[in-house]
Amino acid sequence: MSSLAYDPNNIFAKILRGEIPSHRVYEDEAVVAFMDVMPQGTGHALVVPKAPSRNLLDADPAIFGHLMAVVQKVAKAAKTAFEADGVAIMQFNEPASGQTVYHLHVHILPRFQGIPLKPHSGQMEKPDVLVANAEKLRAVLARG
Ligand code: AMP
Repeated sequence: MSSLAYDPNNIFAKILRGEIPSHRVYEDEAVVAFMDVMPQGTGHALVVPKAPSRNLLDADPAIFGHLMAVVQKVAKAAKTAFEADGVAIMQFNEPASGQTVYHLHVHILPRFQGIPLKPHSGQMEKPDVLVANAEKLRAVLARG
């Protein structure tokens, strides 16, 4: 089972340690949220627990309560910030499911009536778009 071990050098672990940049919109003692750099739609964000686990399958169940509370907070803020019609929550475990980064994370996807999602891990978004969307989301989150 060594191939399923947590790799502390995965890209989200590096983001959590501040070794590579991200467009952060939220942080507390246990969770960080930042913009997905290859968004499947406007305002696509990721909620990431600081505790190391590959995915939901090996995570300590004690983290889920707070993690989901933050998922709800970011989802509500994203719906407001991007004037979305709805919000999809997605979460993948292991390659067969579509997981590509092996540190547990939850996708927040604002959805707009009649607008399909773009492909998963498709195209890099322009940095200025990510900056502007992070600012919009941060502004709503700051209102509490
Ligand atoms: P998953 O398939 O659930 O593991 O999704 C990983 C997500 O991380 C994809 O939506 C990617 O677009 C996104 N992603 C990959 N690298 C980065 C990065 N450096 N910063 C933000 N998002 C990233």
